[in-house]
Amino acid sequence: MRYQNGKGVRPAGVRVGLIGALLLVAAGLVLGTARWGNTLRVPGATAASPSSAATPAVRAGATVAFLDVGEGEAVFIRSPEGQTLLVDGGEQEAGPQVVLPYLRKQGVSRLDVVVATHPHSDHIGGLLAVLEQMPVGRVLADGQIHTSYTYEQFLRLIEQKRIPFQLARRGEQWRLGSWTVTVLHPSEPLLPAGLNSNSVVLRLTYGQVSVLLTGDLDDAGEERLLAERGTETTKATPSGNSRKTAGSSDSPAAEVADVRATVLQVPHHGSRGSTSSAFLAHVSPSIAVIQVGADNPYGHPHSEVLHRLAAMKGLRVFRTDLQGTITIRTDGEHVEVETERAGTGVQAPPAAAKVNLNTATQAELEAVPGIGPVLAQRIIAYRANRPFTKVEDLLAIKGIGPKTLDKLRPYVTVDGT
Ligand SMILES: [Zn+2]
Repeated sequence: MRYQNGKGVRPAGVRVGLIGALLLVAAGLVLGTARWGNTLRVPGATAASPSSAATPAVRAGATVAFLDVGEGEAVFIRSPEGQTLLVDGGEQEAGPQVVLPYLRKQGVSRLDVVVATHPHSDHIGGLLAVLEQMPVGRVLADGQIHTSYTYEQFLRLIEQKRIPFQLARRGEQWRLGSWTVTVLHPSEPLLPAGLNSNSVVLRLTYGQVSVLLTGDLDDAGEERLLAERGTETTKATPSGNSRKTAGSSDSPAAEVADVRATVLQVPHHGSRGSTSSAFLAHVSPSIAVIQVGADNPYGHPHSEVLHRLAAMKGLRVFRTDLQGTITIRTDGEHVEVETERAGTGVQAPPAAAKVNLNTATQAELEAVPGIGPVLAQRIIAYRANRPFTKVEDLLAIKGIGPKTLDKLRPYVTVDGT
């Protein structure tokens, strides 16, 4: 499946229930409402696939949960059949405080696979408690050399518990129930730039839906990832818990060559050293998730990255610092996003993300909180006669008074002013 720059998420195709989830698409800003919980549904299919309003919500499908571990990363993936994968575990305290309680609440008593993207403590720290307290089928990791107490503990636990360990290298592929999991990065020889550059990158596909998990990948890593999009074939991981079966319609070569994804985990907590425009263009996501801690000392996510994301037409951006744990549910066709918290406290979007009153489509206008279908039509009718010269021109439109104007100001612009 392929979203062509948001083609698959046009509000026209969004179910009626979505109205409850106020969303500001261009701003990459999503607010939930109590009425519908904090759930957003988008048709995860191309135009060829039916995604009518009558389709029930995603129920028994797969989940990808981006846990709110503060500044760090922990992603839990479950297949429709119940197989489990945990990618990273946040800082050490996140293990007992967030990750394990979450897994138990979900009824998870065993992890089929654990992946450590790289040895930094905000990724592997929380895995210590997980490895201590939960049976794990096998561990895949980048295998870079790093001397820290946390990393040594991590390796010691794997050894003590006799958990099968495997290097994650480009081309490895296994089945996790209905998911196909492919390692896209790193490849040998590893990049010299450092631990982040060689973060393990996974691409998960289920039906028409794909998810790209990126760890703390930096620009050097992104460049190699794009450069290596080739035609090499994958090798099925021998210890995979569900091997590829004969007659499978999946094409391993195509999968390893492909970086496109419905859902992108924004690399390195939204650091400006990652998420280049070229990378974004190739991944072409419909949904982006930034796993980042509130008030972190690095200033993540950096405004440059928010601007690059905002420039992606139709892309919706979710942030764990603002919305808590972000859960993606999918049946392989449709995608539903649930946020733990409504987007209260969401910052005003950067200027580049504002909706231009002179060029915005009906749908883009409707996505602005405070502008419904009627006002959107009036705005379009107004500018058909004369372009807006300033935001205050909105006052000429029936139904928009000074109060409404003030509410709209953070979200609208006139040709970027
Ligand atoms: Zn990190």
